[in-house]
Amino acid sequence: MSTIAIAVHGGAGTISKEQMTPERESAYRAALEHALRRGHEVLKEGGAAIDAVEAAVRVLEDSPLFNAGRGSVFNADGQHEMDASLMNGADLRAGAVAGVQNVKNPIGLARRVMDHSEHVLISGMGAFEFAHKHKVELEDDQYFHDDFRYQQWKEVAGTDVVQLDHSDKERKFGTVGAVALDMNGHLAAATSTGGMTNKKWQRVGDSPIIGAGTYANDATCAVSCTGHGESFIRAVAAHDVHALVAYKGLSLAEAVRVVVHDKLPPLDGDGGLIAIDREGSIVLDFNCPGMYRGHVGGDGVFHTAIFR
Ligand code: ASP
Repeated sequence: MSTIAIAVHGGAGTISKEQMTPERESAYRAALEHALRRGHEVLKEGGAAIDAVEAAVRVLEDSPLFNAGRGSVFNADGQHEMDASLMNGADLRAGAVAGVQNVKNPIGLARRVMDHSEHVLISGMGAFEFAHKHKVELEDDQYFHDDFRYQQWKEVAGTDVVQLDHSDKERKFGTVGAVALDMNGHLAAATSTGGMTNKKWQRVGDSPIIGAGTYANDATCAVSCTGHGESFIRAVAAHDVHALVAYKGLSLAEAVRVVVHDKLPPLDGDGGLIAIDREGSIVLDFNCPGMYRGHVGGDGVFHTAIFR
């Protein structure tokens, strides 16, 4: 039997210490721990890593603090378009959705794509119809409305500025994700996001792209990314961590270091990622001032952190 372990992130970026009041910090840390506990319960009961990462991400999607699900940022039309994906390391099955609207938990929809369709990635209205068909819970626009995010969008609405949720000097970061190892030695990863503020043309980032924002393979590791999506796509970041472990024999920590600190910065790839391997080693690394993150390993001790 494997040791069980799970890690989560809630986005990475310029998180300013000055603006982080003790109340806000504890709200973020409580939300991260809540997500970790939910995923950890699944693992403790003998559940699969894929169920644990889905459960953890759902908690983060339901929190208005993070740019995913309920807290998603506004696009150029003042709407919310969400992306999500997950991958099962045991058999390399994966499911993803891009540009979905009014779906309460995009990660749940991605799961249904994986389990109940012959596809990996579906998008837009087609994904909405699929959600209807599978009786996925929907919410009206008001559910996704957050005053802070609305102001954030208003500042750039009507311009060509597309803003990474993290790049704001104040609050609001980010995309969410989870990686886990279950008792049977299986790995899984999940990522969910509202993308970038004021995005247009149905822009899709790395989060729903298998290999870019999310990757899991029992042979090596499971990875969930957050950051400047275009760069993570060009770096094929999540898969690159796997490749460095698989083909170059690097340790997980070294593979993550190479991707986060050597390969992404020349591509303007601000951000970070969380990763876990078959031994239950967890690596949470980022190349910007902070990343909302948490993990619990074999010792059962819960950790959460924001800054370095
Ligand atoms: N990677 C996400 C995207 O580009 C954004 C983020 O991580 O906050 O859509």
